[in-house]
Amino acid sequence: MTTSRIQGFRNLSVEERRSVVTQQTGVDAAALAAFDDGGFGADAANHLSENVIGTFSLPIGIAANHTVNGRDVLVPMVTEEASVIAAASNGARMARTLGGFHTSSTGPIMQAQIQVVDVVDPHAARLRVLEARHELIELAEAQDPKLAEVGGGVRDLTVRVVDFEDEAYVVAHLVVDVRDAMGANAVNTMAEAVADRVAELAGGRVVLRILTNKADLRLARARAVLDAETLGGDQVVDDMVHAYKLAAGDPYRAATHNKGIMNGISAVVLATGNDTRAVEAGAHSHAVSAEGRYTSLSTFEKDADGNIVATLELPMPVGLVGGATKTHPGARAAVALTGATSAAELAELITAVGLAQNIAALRVLASEGVQRGHMSLHAKNIAIAVGAGPGEIGQVVERLIAEKAFRHDRAEAVLADLRSGK
Ligand code: NAD
Repeated sequence: MTTSRIQGFRNLSVEERRSVVTQQTGVDAAALAAFDDGGFGADAANHLSENVIGTFSLPIGIAANHTVNGRDVLVPMVTEEASVIAAASNGARMARTLGGFHTSSTGPIMQAQIQVVDVVDPHAARLRVLEARHELIELAEAQDPKLAEVGGGVRDLTVRVVDFEDEAYVVAHLVVDVRDAMGANAVNTMAEAVADRVAELAGGRVVLRILTNKADLRLARARAVLDAETLGGDQVVDDMVHAYKLAAGDPYRAATHNKGIMNGISAVVLATGNDTRAVEAGAHSHAVSAEGRYTSLSTFEKDADGNIVATLELPMPVGLVGGATKTHPGARAAVALTGATSAAELAELITAVGLAQNIAALRVLASEGVQRGHMSLHAKNIAIAVGAGPGEIGQVVERLIAEKAFRHDRAEAVLADLRSGK
């Protein structure tokens, strides 16, 4: 990868963009053919899901300007929403001025839960299960020799007593280093294997044995310093901090603030064939404060130089092996574009993109407001929705922007005028 700062990228044709991407990343044109119509056929789809009747396409685009730990990256994003990729590129451009994103992560630790019911002495049962820690870990590890071979394996066994209404469940957790896997199948297999023995030790009956999507031992983090001048001056800095504080203090704002972060995250998770629902469940469960209040996933502070320091930390259970990451040719090509060589590297990149998205959103909300840029991009969707053809879309969009009228009825009228030669 040479540079992710590509002037005029948005003005190029699809073919021209592909050739720039090939030049910059070294991923060859043949691999990018996975993004052509037919790059993923019904036969391949038939193996990935059930009752398949075809495939369903979405745009894949490239977010420019990202620098992560000093390395430039072109980020593949799959999204149906206009302005998401532009915003990620914009946020990354602002972060770039003072060095881009700095990232880190915990180990790739996932947990599976084994629930035991009908236990008469749950607290004593908890200790009986813990006394068999080594035996249970050994039994779980034996299920996945491949994982041990690549340096993963079971790192711990913990046991909780979960009280609800008049029940007290004994819940054992297998704590597993899943290396480059997302890890759901890996830990589920282990949980099933130890479940009967856990129930026997606890003196109860097993009900659930499945991973938790609250992947709070598998966190990825991103940090960026944003130059006050690049953002638009001291007032914008102060108002971005106000915007963040509203999200930190008010669940109504936090939900939208975090949705903006997930605009970036889910698009890269999807592009790389990872499980968007698992990442989203992990993120939103992590957005609950110690006091039990839903809050912002990110933070924005003014530093000693008057710049903004933005941070994001959240669970990021993504993999490079297993799931669709290996079987979907488009996902394989997208992973190749990122240049990520481990699940941790991909997780950190995705977190940086979430922060880029958040930075761009807060910047625009705290200054000119979201509608100007967003609606200009949305105008294209409106033009297409009212039936504008390839030769007409540009003209309809131009008129809607000039009139600041982003409505279907206006688009229909503009298109009719155009067709009648007015
Ligand atoms: P997987 O089981 O297909 O692959 C993981 C296996 O690959 C490991 O068990 C290991 O044996 C092997 N492996 C080879 N090289 C490895 C390396 N370098 N690092 C780690 N493992 C390596 O996939 P998975 O990641 O266990 O499961 C992911 C899939 O499970 C996704 O498709 C996800 O959608 C699905 N899923 C999710 C949930 C949930 O989130 N609640 C539940 C069930 C299934």
